[in-house]
Amino acid sequence: MAFDFSQYKKIQDELPAHVMILPVSKTKPVQDLLEAYDNGIKQFGENYVQELVGKAEVMPKDIQWHFIGHLQSNKVKYIAPFVKMIHGVDSLSLLKEIGKQARKNNRKIEVLLQFHIAQEETKFGWSLDDINQITKDLKDNVEPLVVIRGVMGMASFVDDSALIRQEFGQLKKCFDGLKSQMSVQFDVISMGMSGDWPIAVEEGSTLIRLGSVLFGARN
Ligand SMILES: *Cc1c(COP(=O)(O)O)cnc(C)c1O
Repeated sequence: MAFDFSQYKKIQDELPAHVMILPVSKTKPVQDLLEAYDNGIKQFGENYVQELVGKAEVMPKDIQWHFIGHLQSNKVKYIAPFVKMIHGVDSLSLLKEIGKQARKNNRKIEVLLQFHIAQEETKFGWSLDDINQITKDLKDNVEPLVVIRGVMGMASFVDDSALIRQEFGQLKKCFDGLKSQMSVQFDVISMGMSGDWPIAVEEGSTLIRLGSVLFGARN
């Protein structure tokens, strides 16, 4: 089975009502996504622009696509005509480009601000120390068609659950700190993946991004 619907149901049954599962389908063939779609899944997360565009072209039009990878500004234009939410917004220049493309396409694009919470050097995102600067910058720079819905982050890829918990806790705190400055629609905390979602939910996640646990291991 390409999409494990019973596993999806099992996890969903364990979740509080305010937490949504975003199935992450990167590297998986369209056929696997269609199988999920036939089971009622209408939102998918993808990491690569070209792959996302290709899938969106051939799949049903009522799907809501989330871009969860690292997005280069010069590629925003390819996904702006259809993407629902961009999770990894980690610079003002990227945010401005999303605004420009939202305007061009005359449609709303939802975004999450990505924060660097992991110990690892390689992960993208704003530093938690940037919050004051970010709120200042956002006041002047946001195109109304860009809806900042919340925050996103990835914990360290380790077995140390205490460390993971601490990192997710920091992201939740960061969300709470920003919330008073943001619109009423600022309500998404995207944290938790196949290996760490139970901790993320305990620490306040509202959206868990699940790939391998639903679609099987990736090559
Ligand atoms: C691939 C990916 C996921 C899903 O990872 P799994 O461990 O397979 O659940 C979630 N979030 C991001 C940003 C990813 O790149």
